[in-house]
Amino acid sequence: MNNINYLNAINKEITLLPKTNKKYQNIKYNFEKILNFKDYEKMIKRLNLSKYIKVFIIGKSIDQRNIYSLEIGIGQKIILFDAGIHAREVANPLFILKYTIDLINKLEKKQKELNNIKIIIVPLVNPDGYEAVLFGFKNIKNKNLYIYKKRNLINFNNYKANSNGVDINRNFPSQHAGLHYYDYLSSNVAFKPSLGVDDFYCGYQLGSEEETIALIYLFNKYINNIKAYITLHSAGRLIYSGKPNLSSKFNLNSLKLAQIINKINKYLVYDKDEEEVGNGTDGTSTDYLSELASGFKFNPITGRLSADSYQKPHIKNTNNISIVTLETLEDITFNIKKIKAEYYNKKLANVFDKIIMFYII
Ligand SMILES: [Zn+2]
Repeated sequence: MNNINYLNAINKEITLLPKTNKKYQNIKYNFEKILNFKDYEKMIKRLNLSKYIKVFIIGKSIDQRNIYSLEIGIGQKIILFDAGIHAREVANPLFILKYTIDLINKLEKKQKELNNIKIIIVPLVNPDGYEAVLFGFKNIKNKNLYIYKKRNLINFNNYKANSNGVDINRNFPSQHAGLHYYDYLSSNVAFKPSLGVDDFYCGYQLGSEEETIALIYLFNKYINNIKAYITLHSAGRLIYSGKPNLSSKFNLNSLKLAQIINKINKYLVYDKDEEEVGNGTDGTSTDYLSELASGFKFNPITGRLSADSYQKPHIKNTNNISIVTLETLEDITFNIKKIKAEYYNKKLANVFDKIIMFYII
């Protein structure tokens, strides 16, 4: 992305959803069904009736769905969760919504603010993809979009991208983003939009997508206060916690968080030795945020975060940030019973509680 695009992203205007006089009513959701986007949005609006949550619209998807960010608590230290970057991983937006609902119900019951922590949740980063995977192309409004035009060729069950066919998790302008590395190793980089076969199209340029920009905005706004970033993906019951190009302090911090999670749900921990750099699996949200926290600056010449050159990784101590990717579920599923079972059997609420408690103390 060019410098102007980047500055526009970090300075973008966002909207705070206004409060009404309506009273908050206890919300019940226990995985009765998979929610479509409209129902999902209704839940968010009901949550907004609570005085313990602030709801922001931090962007709009290409097919004009709101990308929400929810803030709970008034502390300085921030724990950031997101879900639904990949379209087919529909369980995670439901997990994090369920958790948020239960948390707000609890705060309302106790009439108690979270004072020393702020939890920020982006529950559904890629709403067009979510909708298309679950309900097909019929819910796509703009008939000129890639996802609609290619509807007969796309395998929606396996689709990860947004409605432009771009994998958001390859579109971040990180130092090692695959787009600029295809000369070296190209096995994981796709050069054209996704058809829902394990392809990884990073866009016509890094940072091109609205969903990516929404997260770039959030990361930059809170970079000095984010203590932990947990991005929910599926599948494999794994916790990725390492970045081989970054400092051992950073890696130790992230590994510590991964181990806290592993203790509860036994998801397998992968540390930096299991990660590769520059193989085309780069340009993820965790690459971008961990590099940002390590002092990498945006370089207008390369169009991404860069140290002196990308041959010489910039290794600086970070401000005690922990970053993990949580891969829930054994396999991708659209079966609500299996989704519910994962939430309870793998104690995901307990995992989220434990993470928050760890940073409150
Ligand atoms: Zn994913």
